Amino acid sequence: MRVVLIGPPGSGKGTQGTRLRDRLSLEYIATGNILRDAVARKSAAGLEAKPYLDRGQLVPDELVNRLVAELFSDPTRLTHFVMDGYPRTLAQAQAFDELLESHGLPLTAAIQFAIADEEVVRRLDGRRMCGNAECSAVYHMKNNPPAVPGVCDRCGSPLSQRLDDKENDAIWSRLRSYHQVTEELLDYYQKRGVLHRISAQQDIDLIHQQLVDITQESA
Ligand code: AMP
Repeated sequence: MRVVLIGPPGSGKGTQGTRLRDRLSLEYIATGNILRDAVARKSAAGLEAKPYLDRGQLVPDELVNRLVAELFSDPTRLTHFVMDGYPRTLAQAQAFDELLESHGLPLTAAIQFAIADEEVVRRLDGRRMCGNAECSAVYHMKNNPPAVPGVCDRCGSPLSQRLDDKENDAIWSRLRSYHQVTEELLDYYQKRGVLHRISAQQDIDLIHQQLVDITQESA
């Protein structure tokens, strides 16, 4: 089971990706989380990525591809995974395919999360994230609240709002990149025969079940 989730910010990739991880014992990899962690640690990669994250722009392909390739450098670790937020450009998708091929781990499904822009903007406002990088569970204050306000149900860590979810400019910039750049991937994966599409505006449990079915059937 090797799956990539494709959708705009706020379409539920994090919520569903972490649930899929827990249900099917997959590795959950979110390049956004890896980059935010690098920024917080002030590593070389973090310093390079920070201005892009702050503005809601895509980080250069070369940097993201390198970080992802590093994750695969231990071949015993990543064989079954769900990828959230990578690839996001055609160049990343091609590099990722080459990487997976070199490890004999072809992608089994690319799943599109379809959602209207207005719904994205509404959702990002209420989104809260677990600060524990090992957990990364995602909540929404109204649609998917934690049992105790401000605390992660799964691991008990504090929840917070992402900086790029507060800034209107950053939100629209991320949506533009999605439509102008990332949507090209749909055609790419369609031609490779691995694309599936789900509506991200259904009930959370229903989407989860659809994802489980697609992931298992495509493996
Ligand atoms: P996310 O958490 O997926 O919304 O990502 C947050 C931010 O990290 C994005 O707005 C980009 O600045 C950066 N980022 C994450 N993944 C990628 C990627 N695959 N390519 C380029 N930039 C990325």
